Amino acid sequence: KAKSEGRNGSAYYSDDLTQSARERLRLESRLRTAILEQQLVLYYQPQVDIASGQIIGAEALIRWLDPEDGLISPERFIPIAESSGLIHEIGVWVIEQSCRQGELWHQQGLHGLSIAINVSPLQFQRCALIQQITDTLLSTGFPADLLELELTESALMTQQADVLTMLRQLKQLGVRLAIDDFGTGYSSLAYLKLFPLDVLKIDKSFIDQLPKHQQDAEICRAIVSLAHTLGFKVLAEGVEYQGQRDFLTAIGCDCFQGYLFAQPLTADDFFQLALQHKA
Ligand code: C2E
Ligand code: MG
Ligand code: MG
Ligand code: MG
Repeated sequence: KAKSEGRNGSAYYSDDLTQSARERLRLESRLRTAILEQQLVLYYQPQVDIASGQIIGAEALIRWLDPEDGLISPERFIPIAESSGLIHEIGVWVIEQSCRQGELWHQQGLHGLSIAINVSPLQFQRCALIQQITDTLLSTGFPADLLELELTESALMTQQADVLTMLRQLKQLGVRLAIDDFGTGYSSLAYLKLFPLDVLKIDKSFIDQLPKHQQDAEICRAIVSLAHTLGFKVLAEGVEYQGQRDFLTAIGCDCFQGYLFAQPLTADDFFQLALQHKA
């Protein structure tokens, strides 16, 4: 909307920039406070075995509980956390909090439940991540093979040679590795073959119009087949309707998460739901 001529025009433009920069700075400083005042919380969305309907795990999804604005979505503050570097602090907290929660649930009788956490590409670029996870597994007692790290295609498909090294080191800890939002980035099949992955998470955008949309249906079928050929499990994201679930079951998809089963829940609500389901 920039005006190209006149003093008024350019003044308007730079005011506009200052405005959005100011807004970002304000949010950044509020986020800093939010970390200190423990306004960040994790919600947990059940991950379900598609054939048996059993809850097999949870994805930890961060929220910011602002005393004035209420729940603030990660879509809004994660980009600011990333550009300001606060993501590292938040990332450590997410790892610790989710492992602690997973271990607590185990002690409360929910055994074998996996916890998936979202790892920012910026966290993945730092080798400190290995030590953070090692330390947390040790201090919380949460089993490594129940911790799943969700990475994005963009984190993996860089030219860096150390991506593979990093993945191998993470695998050596015993954790599971998943690709989040699969199909929306630029995955190379050559890399997929090379990387020690465990799970592909089919992005919600391919699920939305199932089973009617023929191309999406074929894409999902192809992803399931590709994943199984490479030895990975497949999870469908954002499943909202029974018709979607039925189609995914028919093509051999392993698990799903989505509003059809449950929205992301507070730790307490998740626990209650998982207990009911066990009984
Ligand atoms: P994501 O990891 O792909 O998470 C899936 C998003 O889809 C979540 O949004 C979830 O609440 C939403 N969702 C799940 N099922 C359904 C459904 O059936 N219908 C619809 N319409 N939506 C569904 P959320 O919680 O707002 O998170 C958005 C994104 O923020 C996440 O996408 C992830 O990329 C990022 N994020 C969340 N928590 C963290 C975190 O702890 N660290 C980092 N780095 N990123 C995070
Ligand atoms: Mg995710
Ligand atoms: Mg996703
Ligand atoms: Mg997403």
